[in-house]
Amino acid sequence: MSISPPASSLNNWNELAERALDGQPLSRDEAISILTADDDQLLSILDAARRVRQSLFGKTVQLYYLKNAKSGLCPEDCSYCSQSKISTAPIEKYAMLNAERLLDGARKAAENQSRTYCIVASGRGPTDREVDHVSSVVRQIKEQYDLHICCCLGLLKPEQAIRLKEAGVDRVNHNLNTSERHHEEICSTHTFQDRLNTLSVCRDAGLELCAGLIVGMGENHGDVVDVAMKLRELEVESIPVNFLHAIDGTPLQNVEELSPAYCLKVLAMFRLAVPKAELRVAGGREVNLRSLQPLSLFAANSLFVSDYLTTAGQRPEDDFRMIADLGFEITAGDYDSAKLLSHWQVPHQKSAQCDNPGAGSCGCG
Ligand code: SF4
Repeated sequence: MSISPPASSLNNWNELAERALDGQPLSRDEAISILTADDDQLLSILDAARRVRQSLFGKTVQLYYLKNAKSGLCPEDCSYCSQSKISTAPIEKYAMLNAERLLDGARKAAENQSRTYCIVASGRGPTDREVDHVSSVVRQIKEQYDLHICCCLGLLKPEQAIRLKEAGVDRVNHNLNTSERHHEEICSTHTFQDRLNTLSVCRDAGLELCAGLIVGMGENHGDVVDVAMKLRELEVESIPVNFLHAIDGTPLQNVEELSPAYCLKVLAMFRLAVPKAELRVAGGREVNLRSLQPLSLFAANSLFVSDYLTTAGQRPEDDFRMIADLGFEITAGDYDSAKLLSHWQVPHQKSAQCDNPGAGSCGCG
């Protein structure tokens, strides 16, 4: 019996697209061949991902707006994180925000045409009191705004996940971050299995799952593919693909940026490996993809708008312009690009999360 060569050995990336649309899983070897392909294959690979994206999501782009509801003061030691106990990064540190501040975040999410408002808190996991507080605020948000709510509160107990679901939370984010093999290299205070357990209790509570990774933390290609395969197995609804933004004061501060071409291959691989998941080009896109950011939306169908947890993001008006220039459309509400752009012809407000005092130098001044 002869064995067919993998589609990638024929440079037939479109065959992978057809198989993805046909429900046939991408093999581990094929996934690795995407990540290791020559850069001169990039546009062909991206076109295969685009075919899948176009078929399943059309021209739509979903926006997400992040609120850092509790910052720093974390007892965990995640090596990429500016909020960990081992980080010396000069970030803002504060306990859980009050209802007024969290509601204000929802207002900004709606203003930014976001489909989803993400409430994110630092820490190993929330106290029951914090879960009650977030639940109470989520009920108020749901009364006032047509927003999806995603909570990222750390490790959750089953009863906490149930309470969040009962309050109206749609989805929980809990990233795998890296493969099981590599996990102990980036964190010693909790395990990969702890993370899987939280995803499991959230699923059991009826919550949608958002889980992704951070690429660029010293992992190998197989680790990146292993995360994709695990997320496919978990049937997560949403996959944020972060690219490490090395922050001074963290153990990974000297790690160099990835190449934009590699980032695009990672996104394409995820689209072909987990075709139906909403794929978000997430944190670190600005510093790693740089001028090739627009190409990411030929594989991904979602992005964060405005700032990240402790770093500034690209200005929302630049994201709106990029999406409109690509011929894509934001899905939430009645998106009118001209109206939206004119809305943003006002001076951009400096974010409270932006710690860069140099006006304009971080894109947030
Ligand atoms: S648990 Fe969350 S907040 Fe704490 S160090 Fe890890 S990533 Fe940062």
